[in-house]
Amino acid sequence: MTEPRRTDVAIIGAGISGLTAARRLTQAGRSVVVLEADDRVGGRTMNLDVADGVITEGGGQWVGPGQDRVLLLLDELGLQTFTTYIAGKSIYHRRGRSKRYDGLIPPLNPLALADFAQLQLRLERMARTVPLDVPWTARRARSWDGVTFGHWLDANARTSEAKAMVTMGFTVTNAEDPHTTSLLVQLARIRGGGGIDHMLNITGGAQESRVVGGTVRIAQRLAEDLGDAVVLDSPVREILQDADGVSVRSARVEVRADRVIVAMSPADADRIHVTPSLPTRRAMLQRRWSSGTESKLFAVYDRPFWREQGLSGQAVSDLPVAQYVVDNSPPDGSVGILLSFLGTAGSGSGQHWPDEILDDPAARRAGFLADLTVLFGPQAATPTAYLEKDWTQERWISGCVGSRAPGSLTQYTDADRRPVGRIHWAGTETATTNQGYLDGAVSAAERAAHEVSTTR
Ligand SMILES: Cc1cc2nc3c(=O)[nH]c(=O)nc-3n(C[C@H](O)[C@H](O)[C@H](O)COP(=O)(O)OP(=O)(O)OC[C@H]3O[C@@H](n4cnc5c(N)ncnc54)[C@H](O)[C@@H]3O)c2cc1C
Repeated sequence: MTEPRRTDVAIIGAGISGLTAARRLTQAGRSVVVLEADDRVGGRTMNLDVADGVITEGGGQWVGPGQDRVLLLLDELGLQTFTTYIAGKSIYHRRGRSKRYDGLIPPLNPLALADFAQLQLRLERMARTVPLDVPWTARRARSWDGVTFGHWLDANARTSEAKAMVTMGFTVTNAEDPHTTSLLVQLARIRGGGGIDHMLNITGGAQESRVVGGTVRIAQRLAEDLGDAVVLDSPVREILQDADGVSVRSARVEVRADRVIVAMSPADADRIHVTPSLPTRRAMLQRRWSSGTESKLFAVYDRPFWREQGLSGQAVSDLPVAQYVVDNSPPDGSVGILLSFLGTAGSGSGQHWPDEILDDPAARRAGFLADLTVLFGPQAATPTAYLEKDWTQERWISGCVGSRAPGSLTQYTDADRRPVGRIHWAGTETATTNQGYLDGAVSAAERAAHEVSTTR
C-alpha cells in the first residue's frame, strides 16, 4: 500500500536541484512533496568518512567566482567555504621527467605551449558565437554539432603534448572522453562556464573554494528545513497527467499535485514512465542522453607532507593512473589527502585505462600509490587510508556530468527544459550557464520553480 498525499507541487529527486526548487516554492507559499529514490539526499554530492570526523567528498565539491546562484544559496543556508590549497609549486611529469611550476599552465615545451594557446584562442572565439539560451541557433551550429570535440582536437592540435593537456583538462571536468561530446555542446559549456581558464583554474576559477563539511551539507540543510515534505527510499515509477492535475506514483507515496518538477538528468528521467507519452523530441533526448562517469581516488596521510616541501599537491602527469592530482585535505590540514580522478575513457590523448585498473580495486590502489610515489616521493607510498568513490556503481544516478552526443543539440534543441503540460524539468543538465556544475543545479531549480509559480 502506498500513502496518498495531496500537494501543490511534487518534486522528483532530492539532489541540490530538487531541494532548491522545493525551497523556492515553499518560500513562495506553495506546498511541496519531494520524492527521492535513494536512502539519502544530495544525489551527486556525498561525503566519504575519512576518520575522526574528517570527511572528503565523493561527488561535486568545488565552487568558484561567477557561480552566483550556488554562492548565494550557501550564504542563505549559513554554510562556509574555504580556499582550495594551492600554495607552492605544482608538478608536471612527462616522459619520465618531473618539473616544478607556478600558476595554471604546466611547463610544456615552447611549441606545445604555443599550440595550447592557439587551441584555446580558437575555442573561445567559436564559443563566443554560441548563444547560451539557444545554442542550436549559432551560425555554424549544424557543422559543430555534427562532430565531436575530440574530432576537432584531432584535426586542429599540432602537438601531442598540447592535445594531451586539453584532453586531460576536459576529461576531468566533463568526466568523459572528448570523442563522445558534440563540439557545439562543448563550446556552449565553455561560454556558459566562463571560459577555459575559468573552468580549469583553481585560483579565480571554478575550483577556487570548497564547502566546510562538504557540499552535501547544502542538500542536508535544505532537507532539514523541508522536514517531512522529503520522502526517501521512494523511487518514482510513473507520472500520469490529466486535465485537473498530475499523479506521481512512487514506492512509498502516491502524490496528487497541480504540477511536477523532475529534477535529475534526462538519462535518469528516462526510467520514469509518463502517461500520456512524452513528445517525441523529449523521449528521444532522454534515450540518447549520455553521462560521463568517473571515480575519485583518495590517499590519506597523517599530514599534508608535500606542503613541507613547498609543493601545492597539484600534479599533471602522463602516468598510468594519477594524471591529475590535487590537495584535498580538510581546511585545518589535520590530515593530508591527495585526490585523483579515474574516468571511463582515459585522460591522455588516445590513451585508455587498462581493464585491471578499471575493474580490480587492488590493482587500482597499487597503481595510484605507485604514481603518487613517483610524483611526491616515498612518503606517498604508505597512506594511512585509501578511499574511492566509483560513480559507475550508482543505482539511481547514471553519471557524473551529463552530455549530448553529436546531432542531439540541433535535433532536440530545448527538449531538456521545455515543459510538457504539467511536467517541468530541473537538474543541472537543464541550466544554460554552468551546466553540469552545482551552480547549474541551483539556477535550473530556480528557473523551474519560477515557471511553476507563473504558469496558470
Ligand atoms: C565525481 C563528481 C565530481 C563533480 N565535481 C563537481 C565540482 O567540483 N563542482 C561542481 O560544481 N559540480 C561538480 N559535479 C557535478 C555536481 O555534483 C552536479 O552538477 C550536481 O550535484 C547535480 O545536482 P542535481 O540535483 O541536478 O542532480 P542529482 O544530484 O543527480 O540529483 C538527482 C536525484 O534524483 C534521484 N532520482 C533519480 N531517479 C529517481 C526516481 N526515479 N525517483 C526519485 N528520485 C530519483 C537521484 O537519486 C538523485 O538524488 C561533480 C559530480 C560528480 C559525480
